[in-house]
Amino acid sequence: MGADCPADCQQLKLFFPSLFPGRADVEIGTRQMKPVERLTRSAKETFEVARQLGEEFAGGEVLALVGDLGAGKTTFTRGLVCGTGCEEYMRVNSPTYVLEQVYQGRIPVRHYDAYRLDSPYELEDLGFQEALATEAVLVVEWADRVQSLLPADSLLLELSFARSDGDEEGPGNARLLRFSSADDSWERRLAGLRCWADNE
Ligand code: ADP
Ligand code: MG
Repeated sequence: MGADCPADCQQLKLFFPSLFPGRADVEIGTRQMKPVERLTRSAKETFEVARQLGEEFAGGEVLALVGDLGAGKTTFTRGLVCGTGCEEYMRVNSPTYVLEQVYQGRIPVRHYDAYRLDSPYELEDLGFQEALATEAVLVVEWADRVQSLLPADSLLLELSFARSDGDEEGPGNARLLRFSSADDSWERRLAGLRCWADNE
């Protein structure tokens, strides 16, 4: 799939509407979900949100993680892997040199890190397109670098550093988690997570 084809551009608009100010009205097939934003105040809390999401996953989901270094993409992946029933979740780390790691729980999770990729084609070489057709959950860190490969029903999670009450100067432990997707079925799936009740 070439990065210059119109379908790719449409996907870009759907996943990263902030890159296309005033163009957020684009619709492809399904309705765009209303973004969900939540603050977490510790790595443990981020892990727990992810763990509950992982428990809900049935296989075939694509989770696109976007955020600066240290924002919590790997922490979230660790929780998600735990939620899918893989006991080796503490093995999950930023695969700096290995671009793909597989964790086998109730369903397989394939964890990709696009940080060092020069182009989306390198992810294709790793068999990403083939993996999309399997029951595996695909989790991609630095997903903004491989946007053109992400299916329209991916769940995008943008993590950013936030300030919470009582924070001293500098980055503390608060993170803003912003979920969005072109597929509005995620709205219902996210709303069902128990952790939101403690986090309102
Ligand atoms: P990334 O993969 O985005 O580079 P990591 O998950 O590897 O980020 O690292 C996040 C770091 O921030 C960890 O050291 C983690 O303990 C810490 N941290 C502090 N508060 C939070 C939070 N609310 N959510 C996630 N991580 C947090
Ligand atoms: Mg990481």
